Amino acid sequence: MNQNTATLRERVTGATCTLCRKHYTDLDLLTCPSCGEKGILDITFDYDVIRKSLTREMLKSNPDKTIWRYLPLLPVEGTDAGRMLQIGGTPLYRSERLEKAWGLGALYIKDDGLNPTGSLKDRASGVAVLRAHELGYETISCSSTGNAASSCAGNAARLGLKTVIFVPERAPEGKLAQLLIFGAKVVSVIGDYKATFDLSKAAIEHYGWYNRNAGINPVMSEGKKTVSLEIAEQLNFEPTDWVACSVGDGCTIGGVYTGFKDLYELGLISRIPRILGVQSTGCQPFVDAAKADGVLIPAEENTLADSIAVGVPRNPVKALRAPKASGGTWISVSDEDILDMMRELGRNEGVFGEPAGVTATAGVKAAIAAGIIGKGETVTTISTGSGLKDVRNALLAAGKPTRLEPSLAALEASGLLG
Ligand SMILES: *Cc1c(COP(=O)(O)O)cnc(C)c1O
Ligand SMILES: [Zn+2]
Repeated sequence: MNQNTATLRERVTGATCTLCRKHYTDLDLLTCPSCGEKGILDITFDYDVIRKSLTREMLKSNPDKTIWRYLPLLPVEGTDAGRMLQIGGTPLYRSERLEKAWGLGALYIKDDGLNPTGSLKDRASGVAVLRAHELGYETISCSSTGNAASSCAGNAARLGLKTVIFVPERAPEGKLAQLLIFGAKVVSVIGDYKATFDLSKAAIEHYGWYNRNAGINPVMSEGKKTVSLEIAEQLNFEPTDWVACSVGDGCTIGGVYTGFKDLYELGLISRIPRILGVQSTGCQPFVDAAKADGVLIPAEENTLADSIAVGVPRNPVKALRAPKASGGTWISVSDEDILDMMRELGRNEGVFGEPAGVTATAGVKAAIAAGIIGKGETVTTISTGSGLKDVRNALLAAGKPTRLEPSLAALEASGLLG
């Protein structure tokens, strides 16, 4: 960590409401006091102060590869950051085979499934758990389709905080197993994600726990923005023309935009990439809203990509802003396209993503076919979660192994080796 980092109060000036634009100097508001729950906040920074402690040279000489190398841009004090799980510093692979096959100038895959609990959610949970700890909370709670929950539980366990987690019944077993192993109190809600979210909200208010709900707590997209800070740094501060990510609640894509925006404000990059938001055709409220002037209509949650099966997204303002403000757009892909991409990324690159993890890359392929992404353009796709979390869907994508009698003759006769 950087010794010269300014204090939280010096770096962070407060928060602005994305609806009424009112600015507050309170550092730990969850939502706008005058707009209520829909008044999602943007945390605001003093870029003049940050510019002094976040230069290319300082980053280059910093041996810390975790998200805390960007502490000046994170809304935490950071004193205990060194005690946390090692979040971030995930690889950015160039995919020469796929870029050639798809006619791109370059294709990079950011494998965020390699975070400590196996998803990009660790970036948000790390910041939230550290902030909860700094504020003296003993229990942190959230509702989640799975990954937010398991990352919250894992990161909290590391710092000795308790977690109460609300998940919808359909959460995959791998994610449930993680939660239980990390010692969370797990409530499996009989109902969909909306019902799960509503119960967690009532319980958090009733018991006074720290609220890690991604749609609401503005700290979440700040944590997630570190993925863009890393992508930019890994590309020598010349990000690709496009950056694609899959979208559920909308917090991730909001953070992806914020990260590039911060770097632009700091003068560290000279343009913000176009952001491509990707959903499944089985649950595409944002794709529909973007076509309808931003009017969001609750959608069914009818996709095997459980992490982005969010029919009533909680962070619409930040999500819709990202493609719009960056000159990007939205696209959806079928569950079949998603399963195909699980195989394609696995076979071509050795990257094993969960369905929502490979959705962005499936979206890039579709956007090329639709003429949205042009020949020769450069693209980064974010693989948001590990395929090991959801082995059932992986097997659906991959098929079955060849079952044989233990003899060479049987192997020869099987046709497996061609
Ligand atoms: C949560 C999640 C997303 C989507 O993030 P949102 O903030 O809900 O839009 C995408 N992929 C994976 C693997 C996730 O866990
Ligand atoms: Zn407001």
